[in-house]
Amino acid sequence: MTSRSLTEVPSSDIGDNGRNAISTPENLVVVDSQPAGKESSDSQPSAPVKRKSVYDNVMAQFDKAADLMHLDANIRKILAKTENEITVNFPVKMHDGKVEMFTGYRIQHNDALGPFKGGLRYHPSVDRDEVRALAAWMTWKAAIAEIPFGGAKGGIQIDPAHYSTDELERITRRFTYALGDNIGPEYDIPAPDVNTNSQIMAWIQDTYLSTMSPHERHRNIHVVTGKPVVSGGSHGRDKATGQGIVFTIEQWAKHREVSLEGATFIVQGFGNVGSWASRLLTRLGAKLVAVEDVTGGIRNRDGIDPDDLLKYAQVHGGLRKYPTGEFVDHIMFMQTQADVFIPAALGNQITAETAPWLKVRLVAEGANGPTTPEGDAILQEQGIDLIPDILCNTGGVIVSYFEWLQNKRKEFWDLEEVDRKLRKKIISAYNRVHDMATEKKTDWRTAAYIVALSRLEMVYKDRGIFP
Ligand code: GLU
Repeated sequence: MTSRSLTEVPSSDIGDNGRNAISTPENLVVVDSQPAGKESSDSQPSAPVKRKSVYDNVMAQFDKAADLMHLDANIRKILAKTENEITVNFPVKMHDGKVEMFTGYRIQHNDALGPFKGGLRYHPSVDRDEVRALAAWMTWKAAIAEIPFGGAKGGIQIDPAHYSTDELERITRRFTYALGDNIGPEYDIPAPDVNTNSQIMAWIQDTYLSTMSPHERHRNIHVVTGKPVVSGGSHGRDKATGQGIVFTIEQWAKHREVSLEGATFIVQGFGNVGSWASRLLTRLGAKLVAVEDVTGGIRNRDGIDPDDLLKYAQVHGGLRKYPTGEFVDHIMFMQTQADVFIPAALGNQITAETAPWLKVRLVAEGANGPTTPEGDAILQEQGIDLIPDILCNTGGVIVSYFEWLQNKRKEFWDLEEVDRKLRKKIISAYNRVHDMATEKKTDWRTAAYIVALSRLEMVYKDRGIFP
């Protein structure tokens, strides 16, 4: 049986040996390769798997919701398309003096609710189709969370592990320069995503500001969010996506009258999102019983200490061979009995093939697009609850909004204030989706879409279509 494996840049720190990958990816994406948990040397070459377009999945989700809510036909046409698709090809000098050409994207899906907003990812899988889908998901996320942003996404098709820190800095700066006025603090605001982090945001910020008159610079520091705190970043942005996931799981547990004390959970991906969600959920008394990343999977019914695992993964470049617990392959990992599954790695992980393996009560989607429409149908048949990505992982963009606001107002909020405001925002979003699912008697993903599309429909109806 073929299975998808993870591709994850481990949480190694940028720059310690000059050829490291960027640390703390926010989430991870899919490639078809060897089964997780096996070294590439023992794996058979896998037959090429025809990838379904990720944007097709977005459109399948969108169409289902649009039909059910009878979305205005004209607005439906608008939202089915991206507004702007920017592709830039740019040269960068490598450490050996040779020039390499890179391709970068920024796709702006919709800005009816506010400036375009969304991350930049550095990954070999980055292409126009994937970025389109990710940009549309950002539009829905901001609408559900009721933050004044539209949706965008971008990235460069590279494996950052193949470049030195200096090269990554030059690639990032040249990409920023190539994007020019296609980004801007009141127009389109990038943030971290897969394999990008606060360091990359600081380089983008510095490059963007360097192209302005010195008088303009301090007014424009909010051109990116997810910056280091000293450069105008927000407290709590680093853990925000994981924290948001945990707030939504807490709310689910309250509604379902499940105690998180002693509840069990499994996590796929141990980058920024997976590791933070694990650490924060463990603090509520829940027990992490299995984890997998690109290097392999481990399981321990007595519980895995996520803080210790993170330290191990940082030193060893992944969690393979972690000394406590049994080694599990991808299928065994997915079949682990637990209360909650947090996919925090790849797109297209819960599919027609893999969904039947799951033995959990709840899937809380930390990753973007981890479940295909076929996977969704199986989860529903099996009575597995779902907190969909466009609700579950909005903590990141919500705290990005807080960072943007703090920058505009020249304020600094402490962690307690950020956490309190995040909890309030994400719980109201959760309740809106819960109420919509009840009202329309539909699944949670469709309900989340209806919440987002209704808000966008209202704006278009108010404003009309120019001219
Ligand atoms: N990359 C994150 C996401 O997928 C955060 C985006 C942002 O903060 O703008 O939601």
